[in-house]
Amino acid sequence: MNKKTLKDINVKDQTVLVRVDFNVPMEGETITDDGRIVAALETINYLIDQGSKVVLFAHMGRVKEKADKAKNDLAPVAKRLGELLDQEVAFSPVTRGQELEEAIKALKGGDVLLVQNTRYEDIDGNKESGNDAELGKYWASLGDVFVNDAFGTAHRAHASNVGIASHLDSAVGFLIQKELEVIGGAIDHPKRPLIVILGGAKVSDKIGAIENLLPKADKVIVGGGMAYTFLKAQGLEVGKSLLEEDQIDFAKKVMEEADDKLVLPVDVVVADDFSNDANTQVVAIDAIPADWEGLDCGPATVKRFEEVLDGAKTVIWNGPMGVSEMPAFAHGTIGVATATAKLEDATTIVGGGDSAAAVKELGFEEDFTHISTGGGASLTYLEGSPLPGIDAIADK
Ligand code: AMP
Repeated sequence: MNKKTLKDINVKDQTVLVRVDFNVPMEGETITDDGRIVAALETINYLIDQGSKVVLFAHMGRVKEKADKAKNDLAPVAKRLGELLDQEVAFSPVTRGQELEEAIKALKGGDVLLVQNTRYEDIDGNKESGNDAELGKYWASLGDVFVNDAFGTAHRAHASNVGIASHLDSAVGFLIQKELEVIGGAIDHPKRPLIVILGGAKVSDKIGAIENLLPKADKVIVGGGMAYTFLKAQGLEVGKSLLEEDQIDFAKKVMEEADDKLVLPVDVVVADDFSNDANTQVVAIDAIPADWEGLDCGPATVKRFEEVLDGAKTVIWNGPMGVSEMPAFAHGTIGVATATAKLEDATTIVGGGDSAAAVKELGFEEDFTHISTGGGASLTYLEGSPLPGIDAIADK
């Protein structure tokens, strides 16, 4: 990696602005999963040890109107971070102005301050999400150096990542460094066989990943809603299953290029309704009834996927194998997660989003090499597309 990392810049006794990903799920004021806060601790603790004055920027949810502010207030996150660090974390309820500036001036070496949700700036003309030049410059004026450790927003050019980085010496934090090293290493120098598993709703969301990974992978397993467009492209009828008519030609092209690399479902679980309580049946892929929709892989498919995964040395997985949020249609996702978790001496990576949630829910967190903290960002990285939040960081 040619970007500066935390240890390449001088942070000692400096006021260090850090973009972190604290976009945690909340129920009222309760954080239901603090994984993203925990993931940022290594960088924050390093800065504390270096005597830095640590100023954290983070976003939560979407803030488009005043009513969105209260439910996306970062105050509970400051409290939780304080508990995890075992030291007080100051909180600025505003994103600009005297109160924030004085709070930063009051910091001593090793102190930590969290700034209110950067997207509060979106109410008045999308300043954060639109990477408003004046806002990035203003935030940059509050510190000496910038560290980006928010992988989850690295695929976006916002004022709090790209904007600040364009005015200060900068580096990626330990979390982004790990994301890039592990995912990048698996794509560029995989131990073989490399098996890629792609699932989720739409082919159109995964076109870039398919194009980039198909030539590099030994096998590409395709499951989830996106599989039906491939089945249709083979001339099969898919009933009411998810189908992207405008992607059929792309699917045909992929199948031609893929030779025997592509592994598609051989049977599916169809339902008469998009609900956990629907009537279901297992059918072969050439026998999907017209009025039913495929919502999960069938048992023969799970077995086939397990066989393909057996002996894999690198696995990159993005997207569930069915509607895994509904227990009735989670079997394909559970099957793939279990088979991957069991692999020995393999590098196993799961992207963010539903597949990562399934891995955690099944208690396989420790069995995977890496669970990415960024769904969209990891998919962008798998596509080989630019990540503006990282491109903006100073080169080594
Ligand atoms: P993605 O964000 O592209 O990874 O897609 C995740 C979504 O795909 C989840 O909400 C799943 O419910 C949905 N999904 C997976 N398989 C199917 C399917 N067979 N039919 C409809 N939706 C699906």
